[in-house]
Amino acid sequence: MKEIILIKNGELALKGLNRKNFESLLIKNMKRRLEDVGNFKFTACQSTITVEGDENSDMSKAFERLRYVFGIAGLSIAAVAEKNMESILNTATEYLEDELLVAKTFKVTAKRSDKSFSLKSPEICMETGGHILSKFPHLKVDVHNPDLIVTVEVRDFGVYIHGNQLKGAGGMPVGSSGKAALLVSGGIDSPVAGWMMSKRGLQLIGIHFAAPPYTSELAEKKVCMLTQKVAKYSGRIKLYIVEFTKIQECIKDNCPEDLFTLIMRRLMMKTAEKIAIKEDCGAMITGESLAQVASQTLKALACTDDAATIPVFRPCIGMDKNEIIEISRKIDAFETSILPYEDCCTVFTPKHPKTKPTLQEVKEAESAVDFDSMIQEAVENTRFILID
Ligand code: ATP
Ligand code: MG
Repeated sequence: MKEIILIKNGELALKGLNRKNFESLLIKNMKRRLEDVGNFKFTACQSTITVEGDENSDMSKAFERLRYVFGIAGLSIAAVAEKNMESILNTATEYLEDELLVAKTFKVTAKRSDKSFSLKSPEICMETGGHILSKFPHLKVDVHNPDLIVTVEVRDFGVYIHGNQLKGAGGMPVGSSGKAALLVSGGIDSPVAGWMMSKRGLQLIGIHFAAPPYTSELAEKKVCMLTQKVAKYSGRIKLYIVEFTKIQECIKDNCPEDLFTLIMRRLMMKTAEKIAIKEDCGAMITGESLAQVASQTLKALACTDDAATIPVFRPCIGMDKNEIIEISRKIDAFETSILPYEDCCTVFTPKHPKTKPTLQEVKEAESAVDFDSMIQEAVENTRFILID
C-alpha cells in the first residue's frame, strides 16, 4: 500500500509574509534529515506539507525522524487510496486494522479539498463509519472523545487515509532565528537549554571546556553523547572542544579562592564569545538557573554577564531543577547527564565561593594575570567534532 506523510506546520502558518520562507526552510531541514533514508518529494499546500517517497524510501524511518524536527506541529502517516468510495472503504479498514482492533471508540472526519468528488464530507463520513462498524462490530462511535479518529482527506491527486495525528516537536524551523553557541557541560541543564533555544529556531554550535588530565576522555565522550541528544532535534551541531587546563591552573595560582568559579565562568564566556563570533553566532546559551549554585546568584550572574558583549540566553533561569529534569527526560538526555564523570568546573571548586561578589573586586582579581593572551591561545588551539 502506498504511504505518504502529512506534515502540519503549526506556528509558522501564522507568520504572514514570512510564511513562504519559513516553509522552505522547514522543507530544507526535513530533506537534510531524510537524506539517508530515501528520495523524497515535498509539496506545500495550505498548512500541510506532503512528503512522498519513491519505492526505495523507508517511510516508517522517515516518519520517525520527522517527529524530531522543529517547526512541525503535528504529523501523520497515511495510506493513499484511489478516488472512489470502494477504494476508500477498503483502504480504511485494511490500513488501520491494528488501530481499529485495539480502539473501543472512533469517529470519522473527512476533508474534501477536491470539490469535484461526488460525495460531500458528511456523506464520506457516514459511509466510511458504517463500513468500519460492519467490519469491527466491537467499536462504538464517539464524536466527542474517541480513541481513534479516522481521517479521510480527498485531495487533488488522491485520497489520504490516516489514524490519529501525532504531536510534532513544535517550535520554529531551525535556522529561522539565526545561530547561537551553546555552552555545553556534562550536566543536566545545558542540553535542556540548547534544546529549548533550538526549538525557537536557533541553529546551534556547541562549545565545551575540558581540563585534561583532570578531566578524562570519557567525560568528553559524555558531552558528545549529550550534544547528540540535542542534535536529534536541532540537526547537526559543530562541537568545539576548548582546553582550559592552563587557564584554570593560572586562576588557582593567582586569584583569591572564593572567586575561582566566578572568574572561570567569566573567562569561559570571553573565550566562547570569540568562537561564537567567528562562527557567525548572534548569541550564547547557557543552562544557568537563578539561585541553583553559588555562581548563579543574581550578583554572580551579573558578573558573568558582564564578560559577554553578545546576548546570553539562559532559558532555564526561572525553572526549578525538577522542571529541568522533566525536559531532560523528555529529550532522553537525563540518563546520560547523570553518568558520573568529572567536569572541569568541579576540579577546582572552592570550599566557600562568594555569593555576593562585586564586579569591581572580580575585575581587580582578574587583572593579576594577562588572561587575554591565554584566551587567544586557547581559541587558536580548539578542535571540533561534527555531531549528527
Ligand atoms: P549543567 O547541568 O548544565 O552542567 P550546572 O548546574 O552544573 O549546569 P554550572 O556548572 O555552574 O551549572 O554551569 C552553568 C552553565 O555554564 C552550564 O549550564 C553551561 O552552559 C556552562 N558550563 C559549565 N561548565 C561548562 C563546561 N565545562 N563547558 C562548557 N560550558 C560549561
Ligand atoms: Mg555543570
